[in-house]
Amino acid sequence: MSLHWALICHGLITLTIVVSFLCGQWPIFQGTPISSIHRFLTFGAYQYFLRFIGAVFGDRGTNLILSVEYYCCDRPNPILQLIYLAIIGTTYYIIVKTSFSYIPGYYLSEVHRYASFLAVAVGILLFLVTSFSDPGTVKADNVSRYLSAYPYDNIIYTEKECPTCKIPKPARSKHCSLCNRCVARFDHHCGWMNNCIGERNTRYFLAFLLWHFLLCIYGTIAIGLVLAGRLKELQIVHVLTVYYRVDNSLRSLAPYVVQWLLDAHNTQILLMVFMGVVSLLLAGFFAYHANLCLTNTTTNEVRSV
Ligand SMILES: [Zn+2]
Ligand SMILES: [Zn+2]
Repeated sequence: MSLHWALICHGLITLTIVVSFLCGQWPIFQGTPISSIHRFLTFGAYQYFLRFIGAVFGDRGTNLILSVEYYCCDRPNPILQLIYLAIIGTTYYIIVKTSFSYIPGYYLSEVHRYASFLAVAVGILLFLVTSFSDPGTVKADNVSRYLSAYPYDNIIYTEKECPTCKIPKPARSKHCSLCNRCVARFDHHCGWMNNCIGERNTRYFLAFLLWHFLLCIYGTIAIGLVLAGRLKELQIVHVLTVYYRVDNSLRSLAPYVVQWLLDAHNTQILLMVFMGVVSLLLAGFFAYHANLCLTNTTTNEVRSV
């Protein structure tokens, strides 16, 4: 039993570190340990690492690391897009490998083999649409349309020209230094999408968040039902009460059932924990953005006020 708990703790710690590294800068984590871990992983540890490289390899080593950092963090690049595809691909692959042999099962019909594939495909499609759609790039030939869309408030937005694009800056737009373009109703630059989120693709971005939230919930419940089906089909409760003479009450049975699940289906349990945590993150992020939409504000404006 203690080995199982060690495995579960290991899984949870890994999950916390991955979540902190990838999402720790999100506004919902402000002031929490998650953002402190994020700061350490992305800044503190990195500074020590740079010093170490400088001491061992000298300036050439440090410059190489700095140019890699410039490419990864200050230039548009597909690293996070590839990580997203790897995460969704690997998760689905593991689900197929570990759980499809039990579908159809006691609680799940065969349709979930195809429905799950379709759900993942729609998720990837929404990702691609958000990644490769125009966020509302302001150019010389469309600037007049964007100028008339929103009035200047003379608080955050005053009438001025973008020094890089050399065109007037419409109210609510921002010059994205990563993409090197002005974007109308700029929300934020999304590293996961390798694209800005603005006037024209906020709706796809929101659909992406909502869909992936639902996808994680679907995955968690479906695997839960696979495991419940296994318990039923193998008559685990019957075996425990009749052959092992365990009391037929939830309190007495629960530890044995949990132990059996951790023994026979540990991968599925970890998948459920993973998707459960990710669904909570997505719910928070979706709620934050849906609230911005309802109040007609952008992340950029919240940060500017
Ligand atoms: Zn610009
Ligand atoms: Zn951008």
